[in-house]
Amino acid sequence: MTLISNHLPTAELQALDAAHHMHPFTNGGELEAKGARVITRAKGVTLTDSDGNDYLDAMAGLWCVNIGYGRDELAEAAARQMRELPYYNTFFQTTHVPAIALAQKLAELAPGDLNHVFFAGSGSEANDTNIRMVRTYWAQKGQPEKNIIISRKNAYHGSSVGSGSLGGMTFMHEQGGLPIPNVHHIDQPHWWAEGGDTSPEEFGLERAGQLEKAIKDLGVDRVAAFIAEPIQGAGGVIIPPETYWPEIQRICDKYGILLIADEVICGFGRTGSWFGSNTLGIRPHIMTVAKGLSSGYAPIGGSIVCDEVAQVINNCEFAHGYTYSGHPMTCAVALENLRILQEEGIVDRVASHTGPYLQEKWRGLAEHPLVGEAPIVGMMGSIALTPDAARRAKFAADQGAAGLKCREHCFRNGLVMRHVGDRMIISPPLVMTDSEIDTLVDRAWTALDLTLAQLKKEGLMEAAE
Ligand SMILES: *Cc1c(COP(=O)(O)O)cnc(C)c1O
Repeated sequence: MTLISNHLPTAELQALDAAHHMHPFTNGGELEAKGARVITRAKGVTLTDSDGNDYLDAMAGLWCVNIGYGRDELAEAAARQMRELPYYNTFFQTTHVPAIALAQKLAELAPGDLNHVFFAGSGSEANDTNIRMVRTYWAQKGQPEKNIIISRKNAYHGSSVGSGSLGGMTFMHEQGGLPIPNVHHIDQPHWWAEGGDTSPEEFGLERAGQLEKAIKDLGVDRVAAFIAEPIQGAGGVIIPPETYWPEIQRICDKYGILLIADEVICGFGRTGSWFGSNTLGIRPHIMTVAKGLSSGYAPIGGSIVCDEVAQVINNCEFAHGYTYSGHPMTCAVALENLRILQEEGIVDRVASHTGPYLQEKWRGLAEHPLVGEAPIVGMMGSIALTPDAARRAKFAADQGAAGLKCREHCFRNGLVMRHVGDRMIISPPLVMTDSEIDTLVDRAWTALDLTLAQLKKEGLMEAAE
């Protein structure tokens, strides 16, 4: 049936990959020299590559495989739906049962009066929807100039032109003429790296206060919305000080600014509740969802919208949508995923057992001599690698070099852990057993030992001034 199978030798697969496949966020030359790692199958929390090596996947793919790999129920939901109605659109006053059922289910799970769903094919698309939706909202209310969206440096909201502009990654803005106009970035609440001598509490207030200052500087009649991840994910799993979100909420309330919570990572149990907004006490007008919505089994995203915004948008013809908005197969897969998360008590268990168990072990990594902090909420955590924990120092050598070495040691020891600069991050499947968590943390400790030894040997444990 297929011309290229798992059974081709790895080197051949790698050569074909390098010849024809352009990878996201990858240096093609380096990839061609090294050869891509070919993942052939996965079950539970374990990946297998084309050479038969197993890896514990502490990243749940790309933050998304919340229920773990290999759930037949989702494959069956997809097959059943594809036989019955593989595709129909939701444009021009048509609908179908999977889109209706998933929208209703999301309205039930989402907090407050977030009762309306606009579907997309990914998180990036959903955030593009949000840009147009909040601007259209204010235009419909007679304030078309109220079109600036405030975001944060080092935020990640996707990689399309719109969502990449919302994001605050400068290395992304350098390519392709980003950001689009009328997006403004304030500083991130990253106390460990940027807090200096202030306490975390003071720092949280200072960084949140930048939102109020920006609203005043830009003019409240110009600012449409503020967008943020409850906990920054791709930026390095940065957990804000406790003072941060209450102050952000106060400011959004005071000035009547729409608040968009980008729940693409934090949603669907990652932080120990259905949404990061529940965990952190945020009351957004719109939530962006994707990733864990289908546990990555099918590409789907969406915006979950409050009554007030939905009413205004529904009062006009919102000239926006994607061919695959509310795609029946992806909706059926997402519904089945939500059923499993709910009926098997997986989200509840993150709060009552799996999260606390992982957290206790994870925080123990802070004792390692290479580690500056090991914060974690629910099942998303990070560790800061540092040559001098007491001073919260950066490495004098290339930033990210230590993180990259650590990631390589992880891979060699059967663990997938990502690095963002010199921060290691995890976001494992929510279904990990206690013994799998033990293995994860043991392998992380081993990788830290090996990284420390290598850094010492190469004379790279110098701190930057
Ligand atoms: C991954 C991510 C996105 C983008 O989602 P895609 O499905 O990759 O387009 C948006 N926001 C956050 C917080 C993400 O982590």
